[in-house]
Amino acid sequence: MNYCSECGAEIILARPEDDNRLRHVCSACNIIYYQNPKIVAGCIPEHKGKILLCKRAIEPRSGYWTLPAGYMELDETSMEGALRETLEEANARVEILGLYAVFNLPHVNQVYMMYRSRLLDMDYSPGTESLDVALYSENEIPWNDLAFTTIRQTLRYFYADREVGQFRLHTGDIIKQGEKYSFRAGPDEIYDDYSSSTIIQRP
Ligand SMILES: [Zn+2]
Repeated sequence: MNYCSECGAEIILARPEDDNRLRHVCSACNIIYYQNPKIVAGCIPEHKGKILLCKRAIEPRSGYWTLPAGYMELDETSMEGALRETLEEANARVEILGLYAVFNLPHVNQVYMMYRSRLLDMDYSPGTESLDVALYSENEIPWNDLAFTTIRQTLRYFYADREVGQFRLHTGDIIKQGEKYSFRAGPDEIYDDYSSSTIIQRP
């Protein structure tokens, strides 16, 4: 953002009075343009033990597989956003079962909110942002071709919970260290080996 949308004057970085960090501030009318993290809402669409994945048609990570997810729009809830993204990316209709994972990605200022969901019919197909859409069983998941660490971690928890027979909410942070990314599980995580800072190559 270079110019004020209110008065057209130049926007500068300045620390407002009573604030502790630099903000984008209009040099003329002093309006402050606050920048805050964005929420990515998405679904884990299940059908008879299989999960619906989308092959991305757009950057970043074009050609890699992901769960349907995307930025929330104004005037919608996170659940509505997850439903909309699932419809847009996979032309799939789902029933939401519950919030499943909340992951912070401070290096890109995003918070992921992933919902477990049940596919309502088999009439799915690639949306404009997808090259392909397919149902995968656990042993078919393309672990090496997943688009993002958040997706990988969501699926790891999903299968771990299914093994135990109880799905529960998971939280954690993806932390960037140089060119690598590590996952830091939330304080109430039950899986010890998921709490360690396993170094993963992808964001
Ligand atoms: Zn202005």
